[in-house]
Amino acid sequence: MFTYIVCVVGPKRNVGKTTVVEGLVKNLTEKGLRIGTVKHIHGGTFDTPKKDTWKHITAGASATGVITDSELLTIWNSSELPIIPETALDKLPKNLDYVIIEGFRHSKYPKIIVADAAEDLENINLENLIAVSGRIVEKPEELKKLDLDAPVVKINESEKLVNLLESRAQTIFVNQLPGIDCKSCGYDTCEDLAKAVRAGEADVRQCITMFTKVDLTIDGKNIVMKGFVQDLFRAVVMGVIKELKEVPEKIREIDLQIQLE
Ligand code: SF4
Repeated sequence: MFTYIVCVVGPKRNVGKTTVVEGLVKNLTEKGLRIGTVKHIHGGTFDTPKKDTWKHITAGASATGVITDSELLTIWNSSELPIIPETALDKLPKNLDYVIIEGFRHSKYPKIIVADAAEDLENINLENLIAVSGRIVEKPEELKKLDLDAPVVKINESEKLVNLLESRAQTIFVNQLPGIDCKSCGYDTCEDLAKAVRAGEADVRQCITMFTKVDLTIDGKNIVMKGFVQDLFRAVVMGVIKELKEVPEKIREIDLQIQLE
């Protein structure tokens, strides 16, 4: 599964970063894409001293989970984990189309900057900039001070931001098509699909071989499967599962692991 990672960064609180993240999540979800988010908070803790989860972690657990009727929260002992985006990314589901990180302004990932003024961009890694948003967009004199070759998008123009993200993601993923010309996408060759994507006539996710929903990993190596092999795996596993008791009516994801030793 291929996931596009983007950071929404800004200089301080209350510039509208969360509003931008909300808009992106809403619009991408409406397109049927699966989104994960990460929020970077400086300092602090989610846990409460003397509560049960705190006692579990203090006793030496590397991680603890809390589950309610509607939510699952896992708390990892961060003394064992570096505070970098990859730490959180590693703990998220692997079948996400996008991960939107609020924060981590020094990271290498593509970024949307949300700012009030030109000076807010100091101390932000400006490499790989997708767009500038926030109240600065309404201030021509502040915008003039920026020497940036990036689109400027109003904070409520989420669809515009989504189009910019999708264009970046498609460009990157199209260069990674498997090259096995299996025709499962409806095109004769991978290059034909690539051309159609570049012309805006197709979506790179039509390559079901690359954007597989059936992921086979053998001893840590991801095995590329042609579309019809994936269909076969899916049909066999679903056929068996449907015969089992206590299987939920609506299934989103099946994780099957076979230990041979
Ligand atoms: S489904 Fe993917 S691998 Fe198969 S031809 Fe299309 S682009 Fe190539």
